[in-house]
Amino acid sequence: MRFRIGLQAQFFAMVGFAILAASALMVLFWMRQQEVQTTVEGLSRQATDQVLDANLRRRADGTAEQLAKALVNPLYYFDLDAVGDLAKSTLRQPGVRYVLVYDADGNILHDGTADIPTYGRRMDDALAFEAIGARELHAQTTRDILDVSAPILIGGSRLGGVRVGFDRTEGRDFQQAAMTQLRQQIRDLGHRQLLAILLLSAALLALGGVVLALIQRTLVHPIGELADSARAIEAGHFDTGMPVSRRKDELGDLVRAFGRMSYSVARHDREIRRMAYTDALTGLANRLAFREMLDARLMQLNGAGRELALLFADADDFKRINDTLGHDAGDEVLLQFAHRISDTVAEMGGADARVARFGGDEFVILVEDGDVRAGATQLAERLVQVLSEPLVVQGRQVFLGTSVGVTLYPEDADGATALLKNGDIAMYQAKVAGKNCYRFYSRAMNEAVERRVHLENELRGAWDRGELRLVYQPVYRLADQRLVGAEALLRWRHHEQGVIAPSVFIDVAEQSGLIDTIGPQVMRAACGDAVLWEQARAADAEPLFVSVNVSPRQLRSGDLARMVEASLRDAGLSPDQLHIELTETAVISDEAHASQLLTRLRSLGVKVWLDDFGTGFSGLSHLRRVPVDGVKIDRSFVADVLRDPDDLALTTAIIAMAHSLGITVVAEGVEKEGQYALLRERRCDLAQGYWLGHPLEMEEFLALVAEEVVA
Ligand code: C2E
Ligand code: MG
Ligand code: MG
Repeated sequence: MRFRIGLQAQFFAMVGFAILAASALMVLFWMRQQEVQTTVEGLSRQATDQVLDANLRRRADGTAEQLAKALVNPLYYFDLDAVGDLAKSTLRQPGVRYVLVYDADGNILHDGTADIPTYGRRMDDALAFEAIGARELHAQTTRDILDVSAPILIGGSRLGGVRVGFDRTEGRDFQQAAMTQLRQQIRDLGHRQLLAILLLSAALLALGGVVLALIQRTLVHPIGELADSARAIEAGHFDTGMPVSRRKDELGDLVRAFGRMSYSVARHDREIRRMAYTDALTGLANRLAFREMLDARLMQLNGAGRELALLFADADDFKRINDTLGHDAGDEVLLQFAHRISDTVAEMGGADARVARFGGDEFVILVEDGDVRAGATQLAERLVQVLSEPLVVQGRQVFLGTSVGVTLYPEDADGATALLKNGDIAMYQAKVAGKNCYRFYSRAMNEAVERRVHLENELRGAWDRGELRLVYQPVYRLADQRLVGAEALLRWRHHEQGVIAPSVFIDVAEQSGLIDTIGPQVMRAACGDAVLWEQARAADAEPLFVSVNVSPRQLRSGDLARMVEASLRDAGLSPDQLHIELTETAVISDEAHASQLLTRLRSLGVKVWLDDFGTGFSGLSHLRRVPVDGVKIDRSFVADVLRDPDDLALTTAIIAMAHSLGITVVAEGVEKEGQYALLRERRCDLAQGYWLGHPLEMEEFLALVAEEVVA
């Protein structure tokens, strides 16, 4: 973590700095005080010195002057006793150290003592010279003495002089005492000041502490709380308690504003979560929500010995509804679809069952209670049944089957991702198995899926590699057994795997959408080939048609008519020589759209046949509503026409019905002569089948065409 200086530390530092600065100022102040004390002391000493000196001097001057005056007569008359008296009385004065009366030459006459030991001695001390020479009052000082000399004059002539030595030390002692007292007082004052400074510092420190505590309480702590809450919100914990404040100041406003903001953020978050976790159309949980729920469940179940099942339900051919009826109808269908699923799951899925829409027409159901395999089987059966019942949308009946894939935990996989993938694979296998059914996942399915993906990749470039080609199965007229045309059938010889059955690769092409490119290529090639037959046939033989299979997906793509028209034009084939085979189920699943398309195709002159007729559930009545030129009775009916009276009855009915509508009937899969004879007897128009002719390579068919001679 990066080093960070918090608010508290900053305030602490600020207050600390302020206290430090104040303390430094106080120390400075104190030091200055000390300095002032010393200066005051010095000045006081100087002042007292001066005062003392001045006093002493005044006194000394006065004394010396007076003495000099008083000594004039005694000295004139040389009355040594009188001189002595005067000297003695002066010497007795306090502070007078010595009194020296001397003659004009500087020889001592009297020193105030009784026996005058210095009598007649010439003064030779350091101050003597100046004193002797002085013609007027003269003062000299040494450290201890103030020496004032005054000449003794009579009428302008100098008789001698007198020197009085005053003790300076006495004054100094007095000054010393006074100074000591003063110093003591100043020191006391200093101490009191120091105490005051210390007290002030302590008060400042305490104030700093109080300020810090206050800042901590009123600023740092609430801001810290706000920061904690903001961090919690940042981490997505919107339910953390928000700081509350009754304060009336700006911080209180901030806390309250923050509280309101976090509340609205939480509300938005809930809203967004709700939006992110629910499917907008159906209100069911979406993929994300289901995934999270599944993860949580699996975590709980882990090792608990319990099981669960996932059911993947995908509407069959839902895209067709969107393409033909529009997206509003598509949404309505999905909504009804979702309701049926939810109702069924509520009825038999158990209390813990969950339904989610995974997007598009894919729904996932989680089943958890009891014997999950049995429960899932029942539910899947029921779903397939319930969802195959027609839906009514915009006043129309819509048939929509469902393919359901089932996968079990922990049998098939123990992770959510793998389970979801397995469910998808199983659902896909249900589709491959013919749709409108359910399949349990098995490991073999994985391989099947892989094979299929591989096949799809291989099929992608097959036409360009020349691996795809058309073969032609001759179609004969039953009445006279004449060749009238041929059905184009696609063949794939893979460079490694050899021949791959159309039932396998056509399905792959349809599921993957590859048929959108292969279909037009087939159409183009078939038209081109049919033109070559024209050139090969005998001049008087009748024109042959080529009949091309068109997958339901191409029917839906919209530009089928344009593609057919272009193929005819490019090849130069007459439209009435092209037949288009559409499966019955593709046509009936969306009658309106199909009718429109068929009318357009037929207006080109192209004939349209319904392939594999009888296998769908349209019933014969359906034929009245779709404009087709012919039906091809599925070979499953033809196969049993000799043995099964029901099949014979149906075949007969189809023929009769078709004829009543003016429609041609073609029989597929004629393998036996008996079948041929029976169909001919029942007045079926055309037939194809192994008994009549196997699908032939182009050259073989050309040879067949050329052989055909007019009877
Ligand atoms: P279909 O249109 O019903 O084609 C007839 C199928 O019956 C062909 O199978 C043909 O070989 C087979 N058949 C003909 N006579 C007999 C017989 O006497 N007995 C038996 N058991 N079978 C007979 P094929 O070629 O395997 O084609 C299967 C399906 O593949 C076709 O069924 C058609 O739906 C689809 N198909 C084939 N070629 C194309 C194509 O170019 N485009 C599209 N969209 N589908 C195609
Ligand atoms: Mg066909
Ligand atoms: Mg057929």
